[in-house]
Amino acid sequence: MSFVSLAGQAAESLFAVLFPSDCRFCGAPLIKISRLPVCEECLFAMRPIVGGVCSICGEGLVSPSAFSGEHSEPRCGLCRRLEPPFAKAAAYGSYDGGLRELIHLLKYEQVRPAANVLGRMLSEVIGGLKPSFGDDSVVVIPVPLHPGKLRQRGFNQAELIARATLKLKPAGEQLMLNSAVLGRRRDTQSQTGLSSHQRRENIRGAFFVTRPRDVEAREVLLVDDVFTTGTTVSECARVLRRAGAARVWVATVARTLKINTQHAVPDQDEESRLAMAAHG
Ligand SMILES: [Zn+2]
Ligand SMILES: [Zn+2]
Repeated sequence: MSFVSLAGQAAESLFAVLFPSDCRFCGAPLIKISRLPVCEECLFAMRPIVGGVCSICGEGLVSPSAFSGEHSEPRCGLCRRLEPPFAKAAAYGSYDGGLRELIHLLKYEQVRPAANVLGRMLSEVIGGLKPSFGDDSVVVIPVPLHPGKLRQRGFNQAELIARATLKLKPAGEQLMLNSAVLGRRRDTQSQTGLSSHQRRENIRGAFFVTRPRDVEAREVLLVDDVFTTGTTVSECARVLRRAGAARVWVATVARTLKINTQHAVPDQDEESRLAMAAHG
């Protein structure tokens, strides 16, 4: 064993002795030096969405083949009825379990290093969208917080995550951050319990474009931590399109899945169990 790795191990165990700390999610003692109080197992458990999702909004689909219809790519019922103001919204993982906790750690407990992990996840989402972007640079716009909320929290989590992503290659290439072009004049935090129509009414007029020239005829990538009902990003996209944006893409770290296929039993297991039952 080399001196360097021995020294490294000594430093790490010394660190563990000096700053004993447990994983915030599972309670396991943290042995690696990290500014993020989450163990590697818990981080590894935050997996991307698997299974069929709507090609436009990213909602889970029960049976992707059943939704094809006249479009070559699967669409959910909502997106078949009404074209959303954004070209496509994609997310990394389902908004539950560890990923939800990690986002909360950043937003509500101000653990800023969480933004780096979330930024890596977002870079994967953007990597998937990239083939659809045009040749020009894309304007990256974090969904803004209301100024009061921003003062209270001290940062906009969507902007921290976007900044972490932009540092990464190749995801960060072709992307230009612009956190000033979209403003928010109203906070619409409480959308729960409202119907989709009430949510749209509630959010109307909450966002405005400060410098239309920055988005005119440009491709725009909206970034947020979570896509819940889509009301917020839809309103942002609507306002940006009205200001002249050519196309608006949406990338979020997590997404609420109404139809959650993430915990479904894989087909293969089902088949082998049926086979076993038939032979037993
Ligand atoms: Zn853990
Ligand atoms: Zn959809």
